Amino acid sequence: MRCKTCGRSWTFGKALLSSMKVTGKKQCPHCGAEHYSTKRAYHRSGILALTAFFVFMFLIETFQMRLTSALFFAVFLLVIVLFVQPLVIHLADEEVLHKE
Ligand SMILES: [Zn+2]
Repeated sequence: MRCKTCGRSWTFGKALLSSMKVTGKKQCPHCGAEHYSTKRAYHRSGILALTAFFVFMFLIETFQMRLTSALFFAVFLLVIVLFVQPLVIHLADEEVLHKE
């Protein structure tokens, strides 16, 4: 993930944190420029969460998981989704606020 205003890369942790923001407004830690994630990016993260959910249901059905192991697996999936999201969501060029 790279800032479109100053060109510097965001740290993975920062990208992870900003991906969890509901508003979609992200502030660059280097130059303070504000960015907005696209609707397309939101779409993708939604699909990602949905896919994770279906994989989860499929695995429970297939392996007849116990509730405890299923819950453990759910947390595991959630962590994976959280870590994949910053890679899926990218900063949008066209929605960057241009300050004079
Ligand atoms: Zn920046």
